[in-house]
Amino acid sequence: MSEPKCYCLNDLRDWHEPSLRYAVLGDPVAHSASPAMHNAALEALKLPERYCRLWIHPDELAEAVRLLPEAGFRGVNLTIPHKTDVLPLLDRIDPGAKKLGAVNTLVFQDNTVTGHNTDGPGIVRAIREEFGVEVKNQRVLILGAGGGAGRAIATQCALEGSLKIVLVNRSLEKIESLARQLGPGAVAVPLLPEALAEHLPSIDLVINATSVGMKSEDHSPIPAHLIESRLLVYDTIYAGLVTPLQMAANESGARNSNGLSLLLHQGALSLEIWLGHPVPLEVMRRGLLDFVGAKSSLSGKKNTR
Ligand code: NAP
Repeated sequence: MSEPKCYCLNDLRDWHEPSLRYAVLGDPVAHSASPAMHNAALEALKLPERYCRLWIHPDELAEAVRLLPEAGFRGVNLTIPHKTDVLPLLDRIDPGAKKLGAVNTLVFQDNTVTGHNTDGPGIVRAIREEFGVEVKNQRVLILGAGGGAGRAIATQCALEGSLKIVLVNRSLEKIESLARQLGPGAVAVPLLPEALAEHLPSIDLVINATSVGMKSEDHSPIPAHLIESRLLVYDTIYAGLVTPLQMAANESGARNSNGLSLLLHQGALSLEIWLGHPVPLEVMRRGLLDFVGAKSSLSGKKNTR
């Protein structure tokens, strides 16, 4: 399979791709499956615009946000590590994204840059689809709650009215004020085995929003012996292969999912914002599964979930 090109800031400075009007910006971004689902939908809708990957380093973000509308882009998604760093670069922020404290979708219109967040609403749909439960009825533990995605997911859980919210982060200081903000149902704890062992017995749903699991050498952020078989385990990582956390959950007999469904739902919500009308979800799902299937058959490993 030939990998589509990954563009960079230098390409943006002298843009010669008039059909590319949407993109995902990240660092790293070469692994992103977003172009596969968005391009499948744009093609099915018989629209001429296409979606690409842009590898933008943190110190290039401000210039990229300035150049994108000049180059003709209508909207972009933001992934690791740009979701909170982009906030000071925006002209407007959607009230939902403001509450979530992070932005994963930009709209360029009328010389204005507006930020939205579709990760929050996307996780509610993904958990419903994967496990048949509502986030509001769950006691939730979020690993990586100090990151852009984790913070948005935690705040969405609070907005939904989840029964209990345990925020977990490697750097505890990044989640202490969030816990206070989310109210008495939320606590902040460090990402340490003893803290996990204390809190997991009173949890129904674990969501991993750390980047631990993206690299092949990564270990599970929770050791298998701490995962009870009754837990629902959702890993937002969607590398296409079984993530280390999923392997640990499988070892314990716990139901689990990778983050493809979150990618699908947040992507569909972003495309709806850009186009202003409903988008073909099943076409996007097929685009994603084809991309991931091709990748996993190339590497010889399948997602066995
Ligand atoms: P981010 O803002 O950079 O946050 C990264 C998070 O990971 C932070 O909480 C960070 O903790 C933690 N972390 C990084 N390295 C760690 C390590 N070695 N040990 C423990 N914790 C570590 O990134 P993001 O944009 O929120 O993305 C986070 C993850 O969510 C990524 O894996 C991304 O693929 C996934 N995601 C998936 C979807 C989807 O559609 N499926 C959507 C959004 C995000 P510190 O605060 O201590 O640094």
